[in-house]
Amino acid sequence: MKAYSAWSVFRHALTGNRHWPRAWRDPEPKAGYDVVIVGGGGHGLATAYYLASVHGIRKVAVLEKSYIGSGNTGRNTTIVRSNYEQNANARFYEFSLKLWEDLSLELNYNTMFSQRGVLDVAQSEGMVERYIRRGNAMRLNGIDAEFLSPAEVRSMLPGIYEDSACRYPIHGGLYQPRAGNARHDAVAWGFARAADSLGVDIIQGCEVTGFLQEGERIAGVRTNRGDIRAGRTGLAVAGSTGHVAGLAGLRLPIESHVLQAFVTEPVKPVIDTVLTFELADFYISQSDRGSLVFGGELDRYSSYAQRGNLPIVHDVLEAAVTMFPMLGRVRMLRHWGGVCDMTPDGSPIIGASPIEGLYLNCGWCYGGFKATPGSGWMFAHTLATGAPHAVNAPFALDRFERGYTINENGAGPFFNLH
Ligand SMILES: Cc1cc2nc3c(=O)[nH]c(=O)nc-3n(C[C@H](O)[C@H](O)[C@H](O)COP(=O)(O)OP(=O)(O)OC[C@H]3O[C@@H](n4cnc5c(N)ncnc54)[C@H](O)[C@@H]3O)c2cc1C
Repeated sequence: MKAYSAWSVFRHALTGNRHWPRAWRDPEPKAGYDVVIVGGGGHGLATAYYLASVHGIRKVAVLEKSYIGSGNTGRNTTIVRSNYEQNANARFYEFSLKLWEDLSLELNYNTMFSQRGVLDVAQSEGMVERYIRRGNAMRLNGIDAEFLSPAEVRSMLPGIYEDSACRYPIHGGLYQPRAGNARHDAVAWGFARAADSLGVDIIQGCEVTGFLQEGERIAGVRTNRGDIRAGRTGLAVAGSTGHVAGLAGLRLPIESHVLQAFVTEPVKPVIDTVLTFELADFYISQSDRGSLVFGGELDRYSSYAQRGNLPIVHDVLEAAVTMFPMLGRVRMLRHWGGVCDMTPDGSPIIGASPIEGLYLNCGWCYGGFKATPGSGWMFAHTLATGAPHAVNAPFALDRFERGYTINENGAGPFFNLH
């Protein structure tokens, strides 16, 4: 793995930074690979990395229609947690959280993973009951969970507005101390560099436009840069899943909806944990740079456009200034949208598709960033062995036919799947 000395940084600065070695190669597509992964977001890149590093499968290509991280990986609000109620989700997201804890070392790349805690604020008595139930379920799965009193929650919320008649009173909170956030781009770049160094071809500007079908089986992909054969093909295209699976004639129980997010100018430290307010459909954290990063609910209609609509802007900002009046004085820098792949039960799909040779990694709803290493690890296992690992077996597509849905009401939908 490459390391950059102070001298090399200085030398490159003197030459206008024109001769930096590339962090990953820019290869031409080959005629065929053992595994082709469609989608160069965090999930696709992590899958490629674990295929090469854990399973020794190095004839792997990641095909990305734009640049890596240009989808939701580079658009999310970076919350990482495992505070799920359903056993299958709790086990999977905790597996992922454990990978996060060593990820910077594993990739030799600073993912800026910060375990600053995630606090779900309960704003009604009913929420207290639900959060205690979810906290207990987490503990039974070996996950850290603490239920905090109203006074303890208030002490963590400087600047919150609350009086006896306020709209959003504080009744307590469910706290996961090991949760937190990370730098989204760094995760894509770290996996890309590490996968490339093991021989994986990362091919940007390569859009999959169809599939090579041999009888009943998928034998590769058609792209704007030619046909590429594959022993196995994995889809990791998040919000584009419905469209890309449709090219193979597959109709999935997924709707694409836009989720918006907002970022302010940097200010001095005011919020040192990640806060979610389910009742207000609002969540907020502060980036290491000082910007306040926040968001709320999904846009209600389906769309593939990476931009949002005004009613949600209105709702999110109303919640923001109602609970934190100080936010009315801070300047907004940007706001954007990403296309989320929503399943009916709020849980992902990782496994084989009904078409031989084609595998699915999708249905991440609002919450797939935290899943990135775990999802990559499990998808690599599934692609390498042709069968799911025990941890991702419950996330099979046919659960919707068999009635084994994993309805994550404890942690969504719709809110709190971020
Ligand atoms: C505003 C917002 C906030 C969010 N906040 C959080 C959060 O706080 N915590 C959390 O855990 N999750 C969050 N999420 C969800 C999270 O971002 C996603 O679930 C996760 O990043 C999905 O990663 P991915 O690699 O599967 O998809 P993506 O990063 O979207 O990558 C898919 C890639 O596939 C490519 N692609 C699509 N079609 C083709 C094609 N035909 N050929 C080749 N390439 C193709 C796309 O260009 C894209 O780069 C949020 C999402 C949004 C939009």
